[in-house]
Amino acid sequence: MAKETQFVEQIADIETDFPQWYTDVVLKTKLVDYGPVKGTMVIRPYGYAIWENIQKELDSRFKKDGVENAYFPLLIPMSFFTKEAEHVEGFAPEVAVVTVAGGEKLAEPLAIRPTSETIIGTMYSKWIQSYRDLPLKINQWCNVMRWEKTTRPFLRTSEFLWQEGHTVHSTSEEAEEETQKMLEVYKEFAENCLAIPVITGKKTEKEKFAGAVATYGMEAMMHDGKSLQAGTSHYLGQNFATAFDIQFLDKDGAHKTAYTTSWGVSTRLIGAIIMTHGDNRGLVLPPVVAPVQCVIVPIAARKGGVLEACAALKAELEKAGIRVVLDDSDNSPGWKFNEWEMKGVPVRIELGPRDIEAGKMLCARRDTLEKSEYPLENAVTAVSELLGTVQKDMLEAARVRRDSRIVYAEDMDGILKGVETGNFVKAGWCGCRECEDKIKETTAASARVYAEGETAEKCAVCGKKAEHVVIFARAY
Ligand code: ZN
Repeated sequence: MAKETQFVEQIADIETDFPQWYTDVVLKTKLVDYGPVKGTMVIRPYGYAIWENIQKELDSRFKKDGVENAYFPLLIPMSFFTKEAEHVEGFAPEVAVVTVAGGEKLAEPLAIRPTSETIIGTMYSKWIQSYRDLPLKINQWCNVMRWEKTTRPFLRTSEFLWQEGHTVHSTSEEAEEETQKMLEVYKEFAENCLAIPVITGKKTEKEKFAGAVATYGMEAMMHDGKSLQAGTSHYLGQNFATAFDIQFLDKDGAHKTAYTTSWGVSTRLIGAIIMTHGDNRGLVLPPVVAPVQCVIVPIAARKGGVLEACAALKAELEKAGIRVVLDDSDNSPGWKFNEWEMKGVPVRIELGPRDIEAGKMLCARRDTLEKSEYPLENAVTAVSELLGTVQKDMLEAARVRRDSRIVYAEDMDGILKGVETGNFVKAGWCGCRECEDKIKETTAASARVYAEGETAEKCAVCGKKAEHVVIFARAY
C-alpha cells in the first residue's frame, strides 16, 4: 500500500495549490518538459498524441467546409507588418526578429511569424484575380512564436503549435458567415471531442485581434474558475485586403476589394483539457482525444492463462479501433492503477483468473471511478459503449460545474466578490473603455465575451445605461 499512496502524494492538492497541481501533472504524466530556452516547451509523445487526435478531428471538420491545407514560410519581412497599422502595433512587442543569417547582417530584418495574415495576404493578392477565384479557404498547421515574459506549458509559451485558417470572400455577408461558421465548428468540436462546454460570443474592442473588425471568442471555465480563451474567429472586413491589395474583378466588371477572415486554435487546448477535467489523481482525458482509451491490467498475472487472455482481449479491442494498452510490466496492480489513473486513461480493465473463469471483466471509469462487470464475450461493444458514456458524462459534469459558477453582479463590489470566489460574472456595461479598464484594475478580471441576447439596465461601473451584458472573469 505504501508505494501506491506515495505515488498519489507526488501531485500537489488541486484545491489548495492549483498552479503547482498543474505543473506536477503536466511534468509527471510526461505530456511536456521545459525546453532549454526560457519560455519554450518540449511536447513529449504522450502530449503530442493528444495534439494529433485534436488535429485529426478538426482537420476533417475544416475539409467538410471546403478548406484546404497549405504551408507558408516561417520568416516574414518586417515591412509586411507595417502595412496594417493596428496589426503592427498589436504584435510589435511580441515579435522575435532575425537580423543576422549566414554570418551577415540582413538588409531587411525578418520576423518569425507570430501569425500569418501579412504573408498570406501578400500571396492571396497575387493568386486572386476574379470572382471565380473566390471564396478561397486555406488553413495551415504550424508553429508560431510570440515572445512572452511569463510562461507556462501549453497555456503561454514563446513557441506553440496551432492552426490558422485564412479565407477570402467577395462580400462582407459571406465573410461574416464564414467567421460564425468556424466559431460553431470550434464549439461543436470543444464540446463533443474535448468534453469542454464553451461560451462563444463577440469580444470587446479592447480584447479583439489587432487589425480585426470583430473578434469572436470561445471561453472555457477552468477548475479554479478562471477563463481560458480556447479559440478565436476574426472577421477582418477589408482591413487586410486593403493593406495587402487583395482585389478581384467582379461579375459586373468592376474591380473590388475582397473581405477576409482568420481563425485559430492552438496547443492551449491541451491545457484546457487538463484544467477542465483533472482531479487529485491527475489527468482525466476525454476518450475521443485520449492517446490511450483503455488499459488492461492483468491480476495475478503469473497464473496460467491470464496474460494470454489479456493479450487476446487487447487484440480484439485493437481490431475494433480502440486505442488500448496491455500493462504487463512487473509493477503491482495497485501501482499500475495509480499510474494509469494519473495519466487519465478513460477506462481500465482488470482481468484475473476468477474473471476469466466466470467469462467476465471488471471495468473502472476514470471520470467517476465507478467499477462494473461486463461479459467478456461482448467486450468490444461493452468498451465502446462505456467510452461513449464517459465522453458524454464528462461534458455534462463540466457543464454542471460551470453553470453553478456563473453569477450576476450589479456593481463593482459584486464583480470583485464574484471573480475572487472563482466565478464567471455577468454584468451590465455601458460600452466605454474607461469602465472596462476600471474593472480590470480593480478586480483583475477582463471582459471575456458579450453574453449574446441578454440585457441589463445599468453599467456596473458608472451606472449609465448598459449597452451590453458582458461576461467578466480572470483569465489565463
Ligand atoms: Zn460604464
